[in-house]
Amino acid sequence: MRKLWVADLLAFVLILFLLWNIRPIPSQLETHAFKGKTSSKGLTVQFLGNTNVLLDDGETRILTDGFFSRPPVTSVVFGEVSPNKERIKKCLKRAKINDLDLVIPVHSHYDHAMDAPVVAQLTGATLMGSSSTLNIGRGLKLSEDQLMEAPLNEFISIGKFEIMFIASKHWTYPDPDKVKRLLNQSIDAPLVPPASIYDYKEGISYSILIRHEEVNIAIQGSAGYKKNVIPDFDADVQFLAIAGIELMNDSYNQDYQKHVIDAVDPEVIVPIHWDDFTIPLEDGLKTTNLLVNLNFGSNLGHAFNIIESNNPNREIVVLPLWRRVAVKDLMK
Ligand SMILES: [Zn+2]
Repeated sequence: MRKLWVADLLAFVLILFLLWNIRPIPSQLETHAFKGKTSSKGLTVQFLGNTNVLLDDGETRILTDGFFSRPPVTSVVFGEVSPNKERIKKCLKRAKINDLDLVIPVHSHYDHAMDAPVVAQLTGATLMGSSSTLNIGRGLKLSEDQLMEAPLNEFISIGKFEIMFIASKHWTYPDPDKVKRLLNQSIDAPLVPPASIYDYKEGISYSILIRHEEVNIAIQGSAGYKKNVIPDFDADVQFLAIAGIELMNDSYNQDYQKHVIDAVDPEVIVPIHWDDFTIPLEDGLKTTNLLVNLNFGSNLGHAFNIIESNNPNREIVVLPLWRRVAVKDLMK
């Protein structure tokens, strides 16, 4: 009897180990992988995991999110999270980011905005975003002259970049409890970490439009949409959040297609928000493990299938981690 019990326990541990360590890798990560060269000429882009996108034209540098701490699942689910300054420094160094002009979280959840004030402190950047994001800055004692609320629906100039923030919507969690705790709320006082991930309320989820000389760029940091809010804009490249679309129904995904992708008619789609952001970037980009996939129904391959089938005439390019590439090279 006792032997049986031990055998059951061992089997359970083994299964858990396998579910934790097996990470299905969809073929699209390879078929759409960027095959061009590293470049530092002209306007360049660097993908730094989750929805971190650095745009650099040699004069001006703009980074979305700047989320590098990537705390482990245990802190996310059971504990509290806070910026890991050493890890942030290491990532900035490895990405060769010394100074930045702007850091712009796509919304205020911890996996986008938590580290942004530290990145601003380390690089001299202005932290720009919603009032919620600015309160994350205040909680980390970022000086007021490095905080700027993002104006909505108008282009603002910084160097040769012109940037517009549009209030969009976050992806809808299938779990109603998460919707209640994380969406459609703001952070109304300085947020001092360590804090629960549920203290990092959404604030405003943005669609971001960027004009730079001959190139137009759109960034969608969460797979949500608002109908008819994007003004007339023709993107060459769209950085597009794809996490979670495989869990939505057809009508949701048709609307995401129409009001986010077709709305800016990109030539090239660069998927973002697809890697497991609880794994440190020094380990490379990893897909989510089987435990997560079985628990939440996540399926990155299926998310790619949806984007592929809805965009047969658009190029899909998966960027590598760390490498800087010319934006023009994405469009070949
Ligand atoms: Zn979010």
